[in-house]
Amino acid sequence: ASAQIGVTGLAVMGANLARNLAHHGYTVAVHNRSIEKTDKLLDEHGDEGSFVRAETMEELVAALEKPRRVLIMVKAGEPTDAVIDSLVPLMESGDVIIDGGNARFTDTIRREADLKEKGLNFVGAGVSGGEEGALNGPSIMPGGSTEAYESLGPMLEKISAQVDGTPCCVHIGPDGAGHFVKMVHNGIEYADMQLIGEAYHLLRTGLGKSPAEVAEVFTSWNTGELESYLVEITAQVLAQVDHTTGEPMVDVIKDAAEQKGTGRWTVQSALDLGVPVSGIAEAVFARALSGHTEQRAAVQGMSGGSTSWSVEDAERFTEDVRQALYASKVVAYAQGFDQIAAGSAEHDWDVDLGDMAMIWRGGCIIRATFLDRIKEAYDADERPVSLIVAPFFAEVVEQAQDSWRRVVVTATQAGIPIPGFASALSYYDALRAERLPAALTQGLRDFFGAHTYERVDAEGDFHTLWGEDGRPEVQA
Ligand code: NDP
Repeated sequence: ASAQIGVTGLAVMGANLARNLAHHGYTVAVHNRSIEKTDKLLDEHGDEGSFVRAETMEELVAALEKPRRVLIMVKAGEPTDAVIDSLVPLMESGDVIIDGGNARFTDTIRREADLKEKGLNFVGAGVSGGEEGALNGPSIMPGGSTEAYESLGPMLEKISAQVDGTPCCVHIGPDGAGHFVKMVHNGIEYADMQLIGEAYHLLRTGLGKSPAEVAEVFTSWNTGELESYLVEITAQVLAQVDHTTGEPMVDVIKDAAEQKGTGRWTVQSALDLGVPVSGIAEAVFARALSGHTEQRAAVQGMSGGSTSWSVEDAERFTEDVRQALYASKVVAYAQGFDQIAAGSAEHDWDVDLGDMAMIWRGGCIIRATFLDRIKEAYDADERPVSLIVAPFFAEVVEQAQDSWRRVVVTATQAGIPIPGFASALSYYDALRAERLPAALTQGLRDFFGAHTYERVDAEGDFHTLWGEDGRPEVQA
């Protein structure tokens, strides 16, 4: 037994993580259900470090030092359970099983509890950064027991991305905490991509810029406050030309966005927790809408806003869109962090929000310069009740708001859909409002269902005999 860690599941993610571990000097035992992937990895990259070829699960486990550590990188869901079931009889008390797939956090809670009963440590670790991140340093979000993290943490921290000498990996909290945080990370990613898409659509349709011209705008945005991986690669995608047709790639791609499920899970969880993640929800629904081709075709001929609008000052409008994107992004992140705080409270995870911003600064898809500021905001002595009121971001949002409003109005008049920008602005205005129509909602609920309401000027639950003398009655 000579390997410090085993990896089973050698598709893109598993193979690249195995190589990353080997690059850092670990001996890695590698296994895949079908041996072809194992041999392909060893043929192509076997000379990059120290690997042990394992044809069976038995060989994989036998190759490992104790306490054994096995990283599972297979398709999430039933395949993960199948692999765990085949590993368990081969492992001993104190060994650690890590699931680095995109598991649903409730599955991770279940698996951790099952394995704990058997004396095994289970670490549900969110891994972000795609193929490239897995190889060169992802952002890693491991959950599970403190004991498991002690055995595993140093290894994960070494292979993760590093920003200013700090690893993009931290122990998130017990059982499902890591996968929960990874789920919300993906939710924020959905919102961010939707907002970027809306900004592109406005510059393209509104200002009549070509994809290559919009690419230039994104490139320049990437040198300022919006500097981030997604803004950077947006410029690259928009600049790409299709080799077959010579057309911009973005015009050749079907405009129906797909999804694998983490965005949907984020919204489902937010509904359960009662956290208004409107930006993430709009993004999930926008993808769904884009796929309803039959309905889109049917409505396409119907009238819309003015098509012949001209923007007086294209440069100013471009700057307005940049500000709207920045402010809407702040809202999306604020909502995501609220969801993490709520999930953490619900499950007693004690997740540190500043740490989350810290480990997302590198390696992951939503890495962005402004995460430094988010970290500062949540590390402050008094945690802000919302990111929007943290001093730095309060200023960002207030400064952006004239631009933000102009963009929402202009887009609406022109008939360009901006669900992300509009809902983010409404979210801000709703939180800002002194009085909300929720009072009317309460009145209606009491009218038709005697659901009672609270008063602004007295304690207790009240019910009104609506339409009679109107006198309130205190409920027993
Ligand atoms: P896939 O999700 O495509 O999974 C393929 C791997 O799963 C293969 O090794 C396959 O083995 C194995 N597998 C499937 N079913 C079973 C089973 N019943 N028993 C044993 N092994 C099985 O691979 P990826 O590398 O894309 O992703 C791995 C995990 O990482 C997934 O959970 C994914 O959600 C997650 N992830 C992926 C990211 C990405 O960018 N791709 C980013 C972050 C996380 P075989 O070769 O024998 O078919």
